[in-house]
Amino acid sequence: MYDVVVVGAGVGGLYSSLVLASKGFKVALVESKPRGRIGDKTCGDAIGVHHFQHIGLPIPESVVDHRYRGVKVKSPSEEHELVVPGEGVSVNRVKFGQWLLKNALDHGVELYDEHTLVGVELKDQGVSSVKVKRVGGGLVELKARYYIDASGARPSLRTKLPPEWPIAERPYETDFNLAYREVVEVEKPVDEADVHYAVIYLNTTVAPGGYWWMFPKDRGGSIVNVGLGVIGGSSYNPRHNYDKYLRGRFKGRVLHAGGGIVPTRRPLPTMVWSNVGSVGDAAYTVNPVHGGGIGSTMEAAHILATHLANVLESGEPNTYNMWEVNLKYLEAYGVKQAGLDVLRMFLQRLSNEDFEWIIRNKLVDGSSVYDLGVKGSLGEKVVGAISTMVKLLGRPSLLGELRVLRMYMNKVEGLYKEDYPRNPDEIKRWVSRVEELFDEYARLIGFNRGARVKW
Ligand SMILES: Cc1cc2nc3c(=O)[nH]c(=O)nc-3n(C[C@H](O)[C@H](O)[C@H](O)COP(=O)(O)OP(=O)(O)OC[C@H]3O[C@@H](n4cnc5c(N)ncnc54)[C@H](O)[C@@H]3O)c2cc1C
Repeated sequence: MYDVVVVGAGVGGLYSSLVLASKGFKVALVESKPRGRIGDKTCGDAIGVHHFQHIGLPIPESVVDHRYRGVKVKSPSEEHELVVPGEGVSVNRVKFGQWLLKNALDHGVELYDEHTLVGVELKDQGVSSVKVKRVGGGLVELKARYYIDASGARPSLRTKLPPEWPIAERPYETDFNLAYREVVEVEKPVDEADVHYAVIYLNTTVAPGGYWWMFPKDRGGSIVNVGLGVIGGSSYNPRHNYDKYLRGRFKGRVLHAGGGIVPTRRPLPTMVWSNVGSVGDAAYTVNPVHGGGIGSTMEAAHILATHLANVLESGEPNTYNMWEVNLKYLEAYGVKQAGLDVLRMFLQRLSNEDFEWIIRNKLVDGSSVYDLGVKGSLGEKVVGAISTMVKLLGRPSLLGELRVLRMYMNKVEGLYKEDYPRNPDEIKRWVSRVEELFDEYARLIGFNRGARVKW
């Protein structure tokens, strides 16, 4: 019998296990991949250092490939750009995963690598055990007081729970970006002006409903992480677009290639239910606008695991005594994330001409984008300045759209901040209000949310 079974050894599962084991709890960590491949994840590898600061984890220097001074956002013509300041790093995902794993194992975590979760047993309104299957082998039953689903964007545990549990919510197809990326040792090094920045290119031809990126991975600019994301539920194929638009531009030796999905949406309505919790991509803790999820996954894992440790200390975890996890996550990241989900839908409706116009006319500057990224909202002063600019430059329809956008971002933030239920009994009613609000905004801007995902 374990205290906690954690499913998935990505950054969310590894960090949750590490926190719990370091507080003396008996933890089993289940992962499909073999031990040596833990950490290997198709990713842009970029992360803001503030996330490490929030959870008090010093960045291990050995896992840092490169450092950034900020993010550059380029217009579709690439003639205009805005620079968003902020320190970031490019991590080596395998080294980072292996570093977390070593720490977790050193604290006593028991690793079931090459084991895949295949079944969940329910008893008395809770999970009584999970069944995991060894690659090429038999079934093992694992029992614990609590279970954490950290199995990524296609969650394997919470999707096996009764559909009426709010933690089992099914997302829409458009809640995801489908991405493809390669790490390339390029024949022609990155331009000196860009080598210290993570560079985002807005271009709806190359990356419809997403963006494409070029994140240098060394100071000399000879290794780059290049990729693109497209909106889910569409006929766009990111690999196809990579071949068509980017491969010729980044000729060289391909060091790593792969695709993946990113949940670019508001957080799951609740990260906890009964004796189950969820973190990371499985709980949609990704930033809906830029798709970064490593940092917010660690923050979510930190919040869940720390609270769980306190509860396990004094009794058995349940929906009520774990509820505070939601409030803490919303305060740390989720409220902002929910507001940004509205902005994400707005941005996905813009054209190349709109993006070009916005960046050329410096409608927003780098520091307001930084504020938007960190605080989730544009201050009154910035909104005033944008409105004046839009009026002066003669795009009254855009002004109207921006007003509606801001109104819905505020409404959504209010719903997540002030009206989020202080107790689980109210959650279903609250979820209906969220759904109504998002449906309303989608209708207003003509955004088709697509079908619910079938797992
Ligand atoms: C192409 C791409 C680019 C990205 N770029 C960035 C970026 O630059 N910066 C950033 O911050 N974020 C980025 N992200 C997002 C980021 O990678 C994720 O948000 C983050 O890694 C999520 O971590 P996780 O631990 O929740 O999930 P994952 O890292 O996906 O880990 C889940 C683990 O669970 C395991 N698993 C799944 N099912 C089972 C099962 N049934 N049994 C056992 N194990 C199972 C998987 O093998 C995996 O190891 C990107 C994502 C993609 C796809």
